[in-house]
Amino acid sequence: MTEFGLPSAIPHQSVHRSHNFSAGPGALPECVLQQLSAELIEVPEQNLSVLGISHRSDWFAAVVAETEERLRRLLQLDSDWQVLLLQGGSSLQFSMIPMNFLPKEASADYLKTGYWSQRSLDDPSLFGAVNVAWDGEACAFTRMPTEAELNLNSEAAYFHYISNETVEGLQFHSIPGIDGVPRFCDMSSDFLSRPLPVERFDLIYAHAQKNLGPAGLTIVLIRQSQMNRRRRDVPSMLDYRRHRDAHSIFNTPPTFAIYATLLVLRWLEEDVGGLEPMAARNARKAELIYTALDISNGFYRGHADSKSRSLMNVCFTLPSQQLQHAFLRDAGRQGLLGLAGHRSLGGIRASLYNAVSEESCQLLVDFMAEFQARHAASSPPAKET
Ligand code: PMP
Repeated sequence: MTEFGLPSAIPHQSVHRSHNFSAGPGALPECVLQQLSAELIEVPEQNLSVLGISHRSDWFAAVVAETEERLRRLLQLDSDWQVLLLQGGSSLQFSMIPMNFLPKEASADYLKTGYWSQRSLDDPSLFGAVNVAWDGEACAFTRMPTEAELNLNSEAAYFHYISNETVEGLQFHSIPGIDGVPRFCDMSSDFLSRPLPVERFDLIYAHAQKNLGPAGLTIVLIRQSQMNRRRRDVPSMLDYRRHRDAHSIFNTPPTFAIYATLLVLRWLEEDVGGLEPMAARNARKAELIYTALDISNGFYRGHADSKSRSLMNVCFTLPSQQLQHAFLRDAGRQGLLGLAGHRSLGGIRASLYNAVSEESCQLLVDFMAEFQARHAASSPPAKET
């Protein structure tokens, strides 16, 4: 039993499964999948399927409370932080943020560092002015900016950026922006992959389907002080305060996604041991794959500049489209799945989210070496880009 009166993980037997390198929805811990598969039929002591339990039940109230409690403990969030469990994906946050926090007469700073931050810029100008403080398009989104390159406004209503660009495989390894300007961050693809100095942030959001659980849930962490600053009247479903006041049950929430996320949080705290061991494991995984790129004599070419390499999404190309197709086909035959790059960039993308094991990464690296040995002699060296 957990302290919330919920049964803890049920024993499970390991089953053989493929290795999931999908960019999202992505891999989930096997112990979580095993428990969910049993609980699709019946949750112990509830005698009901996990899909059919009321969001107004005591059981679900305990699920929400424990989910929030575990997030608070993992990230050391003090009582100033509100934890909201929302829907609409991270894309809805792209709209809700300016809708709630960008007054007409004000300006917000945004970084354009890749595909998803480009998408984050679709809506803010409907509400107020937008200053793109750095645009990585000129360098084909191959790197993150240095602090000196940012054209920041110290009077900005807020500063928005994406910590990990999922499509291009770029990650910030420091925290950009001016302390004092509210810092809002989309951490969809690296949330809970490493310890986080939350004191430097004012609003953090991440959808669940990468490091946390199934699609359907978006976690928003927001400081009370920001909530009080909210200026515009917005429809109730899009108003952060309404969700806070309703303790994330303003309407029917994605109960299954929240429950699955709770099981992942239990795994992260109890099996992995928290964010520091998780970060160390993630660093070892990424190191394996990037080393495979670096020793391949240009057969595998990484998209990201070395200083901006993402530990979550490793994007690379092979010397020809033909070889890329063969790579995906042969990898698939060995159970190495989800490796196709995003449709906007092509190539290969290996996503190494929290639940991807070191063993899976080692198998991928072994496959890469074997594939190169089979094909390198017959393929011309890749062109410099
Ligand atoms: N931000 C990032 C960093 C993403 O990777 C994605 C999707 N993969 C999104 C936002 C959009 O998320 P959603 O599909 O949940 O709206």
